[in-house]
Amino acid sequence: MKILVIGAGVAGLFFANFMDCGELTILEKNEFSGRKLLASGNGRCNFTNLNFSYDFYKSENEDFFKYALDNFTNYDLIKYLNDIGIATTNLPSGRCYPKTMSSKTIRDALYNSSKENAKFIFNQEVEAIDFSKKEVVTNEKSYAYDKLVFATGGKSLANSGSDGKIFALIRNEIPLTKMTYGITNFESKEKFSKKTKGTRITGKASLFVEGKFIKSSIDDIIFQDYGLTGTAILDISNDLSLALRDKKKASVEVDFYPEKTYDEFYDFLEKIRNNFPNKSLYDLLIGIINEKLIGDVIKLLELSPKKKLCELKTYDLKKLVKTLKNLSFEITKIHDCENAQLTIGGVDTKFVNPKTMESKIFPNVFFIGEILDVNGACGGYNIQWAASSAKVLADYLRSLNV
Ligand SMILES: Cc1cc2nc3c(=O)[nH]c(=O)nc-3n(C[C@H](O)[C@H](O)[C@H](O)COP(=O)(O)OP(=O)(O)OC[C@H]3O[C@@H](n4cnc5c(N)ncnc54)[C@H](O)[C@@H]3O)c2cc1C
Repeated sequence: MKILVIGAGVAGLFFANFMDCGELTILEKNEFSGRKLLASGNGRCNFTNLNFSYDFYKSENEDFFKYALDNFTNYDLIKYLNDIGIATTNLPSGRCYPKTMSSKTIRDALYNSSKENAKFIFNQEVEAIDFSKKEVVTNEKSYAYDKLVFATGGKSLANSGSDGKIFALIRNEIPLTKMTYGITNFESKEKFSKKTKGTRITGKASLFVEGKFIKSSIDDIIFQDYGLTGTAILDISNDLSLALRDKKKASVEVDFYPEKTYDEFYDFLEKIRNNFPNKSLYDLLIGIINEKLIGDVIKLLELSPKKKLCELKTYDLKKLVKTLKNLSFEITKIHDCENAQLTIGGVDTKFVNPKTMESKIFPNVFFIGEILDVNGACGGYNIQWAASSAKVLADYLRSLNV
């Protein structure tokens, strides 16, 4: 039975590894496999996370992803990689990586071991699909299939190969959900000055949509001349993108001191004021925030940097606490969609069987990985999804003895 896979990215490579039957051909438009996999995790490939919960995933069809993620869990993926010879490790955050900290280790192992099961044909860009004739046409030739697997990814980082053109090819026949970009950076209405560009703090970023708290993350926050980036921002970015997509008012509140309550931080500052009454405001700030940010913070406080601490009123100290604990940025748009790490939305999962990944509209047509409307959070959850969805499909096809 001819199984044709479009895409030798993360999902396509895992699928090829999990399959040990059928006549498997993989068409890939790039000249090699796993281009985005190589770029993942800053070249280190954060392939899953020890902290697993369904809360890290979203699909318009809420329960769709549960079967696949239960069937092939984060621990199953770690074991699988270990079994094919990849040593793995994890950071205290729970993020898992190859021990070599090189995504090439994973790409090479997956590609080399799947060459036994599958025939890879590179430089083949699928340009047309005829579902009734069961035929796929590339830039070079046409291929007949019995079963067709879409493993073409989303539309972010187009130069990795997943440029979203596939959605235009199928949109008349396969229902798609509204799309946007996830795991990304944002432009804000309030901006720090240019000289703060790239300044990193460890703080808490809290997302509010229409004034309602949604979620928060404590990690790096980086101030840019366009707005905000950093791991804490990436962590809340999928919900933020969805809010912007739906034209809702979204803001991010930055807390420079999440380890202290409002009152504790006030007491801390008051103690410094009492102990060093002749110290200037500038000197106080030098001890509590990155020097590059002082000018901007002073502007927000509307005080002179030379003001002595003994001249600061309770009101001024409270304003300083509020500025550093509840600094709000109204988010206006996604910055640089092209370099987002994820496509939110895709093939509507209401029309896909979660236990087989088969289209409910076209029998013998399957979808795995990021092409589906399943978006995982930052932290290894999307590679896990690509692997888990590929495993469900492989298990199903193997059960048919294809
Ligand atoms: C910079 C970056 C860093 C990331 N880091 C992480 C991370 O650390 N952890 C994590 O979990 N996720 C990460 N992700 C997300 C993760 O890489 C993707 O979710 C994952 O690659 C999706 O796998 P996929 O197989 O569905 O798509 P892809 O890996 O994108 O593969 C799709 C393949 O299909 C091919 N293709 C597309 N259209 C056609 C066509 N018409 N004809 C032929 N071939 C075609 C493409 O060339 C590509 O090779 C990152 C993403 C980016 C952009």
